[in-house]
Amino acid sequence: MIDIARLREDPESVRENIRKKFQDHKLPLVDEALKLDQAKRASETEGSELRAEKNKISKSIGQLMREGKKEEAEAAKARVKEINEKLPELEATQKETTQKLLEVMYQIPNFIDPSVPIGKDDSENVEVERFGEPVVPPYEIPHHADIIHRVNGMDKESAGRTSGEGFYYLIGDIARLHEAMIAYARDYMIDKGFTYCVPPFMIRSNVVNGVMSFEEMDAMMYKIEGEDLYLIGTSEHSMIGRFQGQIVESDKLPIRMTSYSPCFRKEGGSHGLEERGLYRVHQFEKEEMIVLCEPENSMEEYEKMWRYTVDVFRNMDVPVRQLECCSGDLADLKVKSCDVEAWSPRQKKYFEVGSCSTLGDAQARRLGIRAKNEKGTYYLHTLNNTVVASPRGMIAVIENNYNEDGSINIPKVLQPYMGGKTKIVTQ
Ligand code: AMP
Repeated sequence: MIDIARLREDPESVRENIRKKFQDHKLPLVDEALKLDQAKRASETEGSELRAEKNKISKSIGQLMREGKKEEAEAAKARVKEINEKLPELEATQKETTQKLLEVMYQIPNFIDPSVPIGKDDSENVEVERFGEPVVPPYEIPHHADIIHRVNGMDKESAGRTSGEGFYYLIGDIARLHEAMIAYARDYMIDKGFTYCVPPFMIRSNVVNGVMSFEEMDAMMYKIEGEDLYLIGTSEHSMIGRFQGQIVESDKLPIRMTSYSPCFRKEGGSHGLEERGLYRVHQFEKEEMIVLCEPENSMEEYEKMWRYTVDVFRNMDVPVRQLECCSGDLADLKVKSCDVEAWSPRQKKYFEVGSCSTLGDAQARRLGIRAKNEKGTYYLHTLNNTVVASPRGMIAVIENNYNEDGSINIPKVLQPYMGGKTKIVTQ
């Protein structure tokens, strides 16, 4: 959520930002917000004037009585009664206007960083840097679903019966590989000074509204019937939500945490589910990182964060690249975002395995998360990034470590998490 003061001072900059994100349908929200803000402030002024008048008159009534000015005292009493009747009405209107204003402000996208490339959708994202040589072996790499089937590592058919499309059973060494990746990612981040956390996997609607836009919520979140609870789409949601309404001492910043969770997604957006395999599913698992920091440090934190993901994948022998997301591909709360993409030797192209974002103070404003120093309180900045999400990360590991005989080399860093095993072989 943007600062209402900035919207008042420079509404054109808000419109310009909306245009840069190709969301012209949201342009009328700027005038709507300005109108509601004006009405809210006018009723606040009227309310405080009435309360001041009431105090003044109430104090004068005794004096008027003592002076025998009965008629004037009666008039004063009548005015107090009138004000008493008007104030609750005014407060109700004020509450309604404030709520409406908040709803409009929630829909206005956050300001993007000037460095973000302008583009309509993900086809206009920009490659920044490659890490590792994208190798195409002299033999064919099968679809990951076929590789996994050959090592008896997955059962989607039964999952289709128990849970429907978009679910899977991982079995044996493949299930172990999946867990090994998450465990390795966790330990890597702990080594980098991040504090490990396992958060709640369900959160209330006020936290959902605080961490994401309505559009994202609609496309992603599963609601628990009859409860004010949603299954998390990523542990970022509960990790940032943990700080709702809190004031953090500035000397405690930055807060750097890594978290594990299953992630549940409706995938109601444009992509939909992948027909075969594990690329886009309803349930996956993720090691995540979040940072809460001073506003002036968020870009520096951002630059460090995505590089951790690059390192983790390089250590698993996967070539990757960094892709800068263009304006139209940024969700509404994001200031700047990039994807880490892994090389697919089968498709001979890169595919997304992680996403790093700074949201500036947008989540902090929505959730009321402040920092405090000797000068006072202020909104801090929040960031999040994928360390590793499996099974998608596992697809990258499997394809890039696949041998012609159908076996899969287990990357060295994962072997200690798989009882020292070095290879997964066809069964
Ligand atoms: P996001 O939180 O949407 O930025 O996604 C972070 C990472 O989670 C992505 O880069 C993928 O690796 C993984 N991911 C997201 N959605 C899915 C899904 N539906 N199925 C499998 N993996 C996913």
